[in-house]
Amino acid sequence: MIVLPQGAKLIIERLEEYGYEAYAVGGAVRDAIRGVEANDWDICTSALPQRVLRIFSDFRVIPTGLKHGTVTVLVEDMPFEITTFRTDGDYLDGRHPESVSFQCDLFTDLERRDFTVNAICYSPSKGIKDPFCGVSDIENKLIRAVGEPERRFREDALRIMRAIRFSATLGYDIEKATSEALIKLRETLRLVSAERLQTELKKLVAGKEAPRVLREYKCVIDSFVPLVKRSSASDFEKRISVLGAADTLSLRLALIFGVYGADEAENSMKELKFSNKEIGEVGDIIRFSDMLSCEKRELFLLWGAHKEEFRNYYRYRCLLLSEDEKPFSLLEKEFLLSSLPSSLGDLKVNGRDLKKLGFEGKEIKQALERLLQLSAEGEVENEKEALKKAALEL
Ligand code: ATP
Ligand code: MG
Repeated sequence: MIVLPQGAKLIIERLEEYGYEAYAVGGAVRDAIRGVEANDWDICTSALPQRVLRIFSDFRVIPTGLKHGTVTVLVEDMPFEITTFRTDGDYLDGRHPESVSFQCDLFTDLERRDFTVNAICYSPSKGIKDPFCGVSDIENKLIRAVGEPERRFREDALRIMRAIRFSATLGYDIEKATSEALIKLRETLRLVSAERLQTELKKLVAGKEAPRVLREYKCVIDSFVPLVKRSSASDFEKRISVLGAADTLSLRLALIFGVYGADEAENSMKELKFSNKEIGEVGDIIRFSDMLSCEKRELFLLWGAHKEEFRNYYRYRCLLLSEDEKPFSLLEKEFLLSSLPSSLGDLKVNGRDLKKLGFEGKEIKQALERLLQLSAEGEVENEKEALKKAALEL
């Protein structure tokens, strides 16, 4: 059962009233069939873009990519991309079709799409159209190229990354012939822009089955990340084996790029055109986690200075902890991170409490600061009674 958002229904019905074909298509239909809520609904139609612009002139319409047949219509602030059925001309550069033609039908439009699971469409009046058996591939959790895999990857090398990215995010295997073709053609990823590779890599790394995919398709990543290619299979394995336990994207990227330290990670990410913010975050995780010592006081200082990011530094170190680093005790520090205060506001006593105990003027602030330090170092529990007792012993 596919439930379309109101906006998509309205658009499809209106196009049909004007005598055109229109369907929801692509990732949103795939996700709806998987039972996952989709956010971007794409619509394909037999109406030409100029016609779509006129038919929806009472809505906010943005001519997003007229050349490729795409118009965005906003229905109650929700954007819907409407793309005219199209077929792609010859691919000359392994990435972009030389031309696109709108002289085609639904089948041809679905045929140009990358994978069977992305080539399903649906409309309330016509039901599901699935000429490439994408629904059965969803049931069997398979990524399969539409048509002949080698030809499809030669047309557009980005599809190589999309295949392994979908495998990681959806948790699907890649069908044998599709998998063999993408491995064979992996070096053609050089034709793809750094930005596109980077975006796909991030989605892959964040995927629930990223460790499996990175393991199975390391050779694909090797083809555009020299740093990963240089790292030994065992180093890489050690890092991806803990990837699943890393719960932020920065941590996961640090695991992938951190093999040779912070500087190399930053350079490698720069080559892939990551943003300065992303590069800074990942670089700092690698750099600062090395500085974490078992000395509570030092931990406290670093924590005070980098409160938000500290958790990532700490997690990174813990993830890569070796046997002989056990003094960097997990449990104890987990406790430290979760419950110890790092600013006066976190302390379970305040100035008024201390005043009642007889502290006055400047003494109050000094005592609070000392209590914060003791408490952050784990010497005193961050509990009202324990802190009051400690205050009297200062
Ligand atoms: P996501 O959930 O990441 O948005 P998606 O499948 O919707 O996944 P989009 O990039 O939004 O991916 O593309 C929408 C649709 O356009 C795809 O489902 C697919 O049918 C088609 N498509 C996108 N990129 C390509 C490509 N490089 N080659 C062929 N078809 C593509
Ligand atoms: Mg999409």
